[in-house]
Amino acid sequence: MIRPDRALVLFSGGQDSTACLAWALDRFAHVETVGFDYGQRHSVEMRQRTLVLARIRERFPAWAERLGPDHRLDLTAFGAIGDTALTSDRAFEMDARGLPNTFVPGRNLVFLTWAAALADRRGLGRLVGGMCETDFSGYPDCRRDTLDALQSALNLGMDQTFVIDTPLMRLTKAETWALTLGLGGPTLVDIVLEDTHTCYAGERGERHPWGHGCGACPACELRARGWREWEAAGRPALSA
Ligand code: ZN
Repeated sequence: MIRPDRALVLFSGGQDSTACLAWALDRFAHVETVGFDYGQRHSVEMRQRTLVLARIRERFPAWAERLGPDHRLDLTAFGAIGDTALTSDRAFEMDARGLPNTFVPGRNLVFLTWAAALADRRGLGRLVGGMCETDFSGYPDCRRDTLDALQSALNLGMDQTFVIDTPLMRLTKAETWALTLGLGGPTLVDIVLEDTHTCYAGERGERHPWGHGCGACPACELRARGWREWEAAGRPALSA
């Protein structure tokens, strides 16, 4: 049986999913993570996620006790369908729907369905993801309406009682930084800055005030803007 105090976090090693992982570790008795290899152009993402997990185990002993195994699922066949800027070498552009070509159609539906199958086997009742309606992108599979419908479909189709938790859904990027600080203090903010990976170009690059990345792609711009907005909103001093 799945249990409501056991969670599976969709964990990419980026800023948002690291905040979600901390959120889950703060409130659930047992937390496991899952990462999807869908043929990302840059394996740096898969490398950094392992590093972030290690840092959290090392610096948060109480969380380490709750943090269970990390799972990796191979979805490269799905990545082969999505001919986008994330999985091939095309430039960033917008399509006729006004969606950036970083949008892999239905990606979150696929990820959550695989996650639910894994969670069923592992007895995990909560599926936690960093989907966010306030993202610049407006990906339709990040909307809460979509996820409510998917939650119903998963529960009907697997005869289960999963809850899809999306703690970042209504937050701005500045608020996500503030949430991160609230959950794990300057130590967690430091892990996000130093080790998480968001850059679409796959660059670790120089260490900007907001972390590593190329500084020019949409993901870096979003992350940098959130950092500046947090500063403008009165970010506290962060000496760890
Ligand atoms: Zn970048």
